[in-house]
Amino acid sequence: MNIFSSNPSEQPKNIGLVDSFSRSVSYLRVSLTDQCNLRCFYCTPKPLEDKLDAGELLSYEELLEVIKVAAGLGIKKVRLTGGEPLVRRDVTGFIGELARLDGIEEVRITTNGMLLADKIAELYESGIRKLNISLDTLKPGRFREITGVDGFTRVWRGIEQSLDREFAAIKLNVVAMNGINDDEFIDFARLSLEKPLQVRFIEFMPMGDDSNWRQDYYIMSADIMARIERELGGLTPVGGGRFDGPAKTYRLPGAAGTVGFISPISDHFCARCNRLRLTAEGRLRSCLLTDRETDLKTIIRSGGTAADIRAALIATIKNKPEGHKLSGSEIKNCHGRMSRIGG
Ligand code: SAM
Repeated sequence: MNIFSSNPSEQPKNIGLVDSFSRSVSYLRVSLTDQCNLRCFYCTPKPLEDKLDAGELLSYEELLEVIKVAAGLGIKKVRLTGGEPLVRRDVTGFIGELARLDGIEEVRITTNGMLLADKIAELYESGIRKLNISLDTLKPGRFREITGVDGFTRVWRGIEQSLDREFAAIKLNVVAMNGINDDEFIDFARLSLEKPLQVRFIEFMPMGDDSNWRQDYYIMSADIMARIERELGGLTPVGGGRFDGPAKTYRLPGAAGTVGFISPISDHFCARCNRLRLTAEGRLRSCLLTDRETDLKTIIRSGGTAADIRAALIATIKNKPEGHKLSGSEIKNCHGRMSRIGG
């Protein structure tokens, strides 16, 4: 498939992706695979018997074609996620090509850190400068209970090796769960005192049919923040960068790093949402928490041109919902699977 003209004057102009609520969409999150080397009880609790075959995933070539069109429409930042993006073969080669695409200013990755120590040099060389590492506990036994795998030491080694390199940002994503890891919130916040990490607490979302979300696990960011301030002192707000997304970020007195809060339920950021998602099976999704998707893979594999991809991107953005339904009294489950959508 060659969907691009070799004549630059025939490339469509960057018109910008603006949705029906005047939000400009410049950020694409790509789930590279639904496969994962962990089995977190809230994300992939069952064995992935119905996992996607390699042929069901968009190939790297197809992904690059889509992202090239998206960049022409104003997508500037791409995040690779999954499943676990580092389990996909030759991911760093793909990242290198992605980072060289015209218009793509930043490529980031979200990983569970299991393969980080092995791949850190390649990742850095491929152009990644900002890393998100997911880690819900600092206790090895609890790590095994949450993820089904005895992997804490490996992940921690990956984090330490990341800190030894000159990454512009290393964020630690902690899903905050009452009764599961709430006794570690202070220890996580304390990490930011000594290490230049951004420790971010994410509110637990009722996501996916097979997630084990429970109301009593949910704890709102304001409560976590109050606990941290009580133990460790006042949190001073820190201004975010241009691409810094939905986290509200703070610094503890004298801290090397920062503490962030992502509050999709108690303080949702839909009005500022600049995101579009491409799922592992090649579907465009304009809201993490709304099950409305456009089947881009079928468009591409039935001979679609760059113009067709462009039209699908524009239509998906035009249909981006104003907000999700996770707030208020009526908390609705979103049925899509986190491992395919990518978080
Ligand atoms: N495997 C990679 C990782 O672990 O970072 C990327 C995919 S994972 C689905 C992306 C992020 O979503 C992780 O930080 C994970 O903890 C988070 N996540 C998964 N289910 C969640 C939920 N129900 N609520 C909040 N965060 C969730």
